[in-house]
Amino acid sequence: EAALSALPQTGEREVETALRPRLLADFVGQPRVREQLSLVLESARKRGVPPDHVLLSGPPGLGKTSMAMIIAAELGASIRITSGPALERAGDLAAMLSNLAEGDVLFIDEIHRIARPAEEMLYLAMEDFRVDVVVGKGPGATSIPLEIAPFTLVGATTRSGALTGPLRDRFGFTGQMEFYTPEELEQVVQRSADLLGISVDPQGRAEIARRSRGTPRIANRLLRRVRDYAEVRADGTGTLDVVRAALAVYDVDELGLDRLDRAVLAALVRSFGGGPVGVSTLAVAVGEEPTTVEEVCEPYLVRAGMLARTPRGRVATAAAWEHLGLQAPADVTG
Ligand code: ADP
Repeated sequence: EAALSALPQTGEREVETALRPRLLADFVGQPRVREQLSLVLESARKRGVPPDHVLLSGPPGLGKTSMAMIIAAELGASIRITSGPALERAGDLAAMLSNLAEGDVLFIDEIHRIARPAEEMLYLAMEDFRVDVVVGKGPGATSIPLEIAPFTLVGATTRSGALTGPLRDRFGFTGQMEFYTPEELEQVVQRSADLLGISVDPQGRAEIARRSRGTPRIANRLLRRVRDYAEVRADGTGTLDVVRAALAVYDVDELGLDRLDRAVLAALVRSFGGGPVGVSTLAVAVGEEPTTVEEVCEPYLVRAGMLARTPRGRVATAAAWEHLGLQAPADVTG
């Protein structure tokens, strides 16, 4: 069984689509981003122009894609969806841009992974609604300017720090998505349980929420694993006992940490004496990509007060040692 990371897994896309909130009012949590966005959208609507380009930043599974779809829905616009890694050649982006209709929303997921030539094309498109298409090669190459319809770009990134300055500057608004509180996640679980016809009692709901790493995607996934367990080993209802038993089967611990989270902490503490250690070294020790450790694991471990990022590397806090059932050395704080 793979770790219950926040990355979508195969077969999950359909359920995710069914569970996505459709309008700003259905979107649980993120009060700051919601308020800021609703002002941006309302003001654009009043002025009768497409709103400024929007960058949504935060760890996986917090609702960036859902929010992009909501922006389009609130504007009554169509949305086109692509991702940074899919835009390898500038031509791919040019094709996408020239197919936009006025007022469309273009969503680029993982925008920090866009290739350089496409990124440079995007600058002009975002600023002047124009692209320069280069025809031919070498000294005979000419560039043909092409008008594109005024559109709104919504970019999503798990690493806003990895965006180049010029790209970041072209977004009129950046929404920083935060981890959800257990109370907000309870609402997410309730809503999903209603939509999927799953029965969970209030204590079971609170337990799922508490163990979802602050992440709605994980809350929804745990809810489905609880449903499986409840149907096979119990009477179908997710009570507190059923939730606890189900999450034990899937290696989700008391704090909601999954296998990979715990592997990272264990390596940090056992192999590197609690750090500091560089993220690449840590990633090799757990057999993962550094980007996965950095973008999927670490944000929650930091937020949970288990891991600190220092200029010299990653450091385990006293809480991390304690969580692993170990005695922290005397000089470890936090
Ligand atoms: P991201 O793009 O940040 O990785 P998504 O928008 O794909 O995250 O969200 C993952 C899933 O989590 C969605 O399918 C949706 O079911 C659920 N979700 C995310 N945010 C919310 C929210 N605020 N309210 C309810 N469900 C949410």
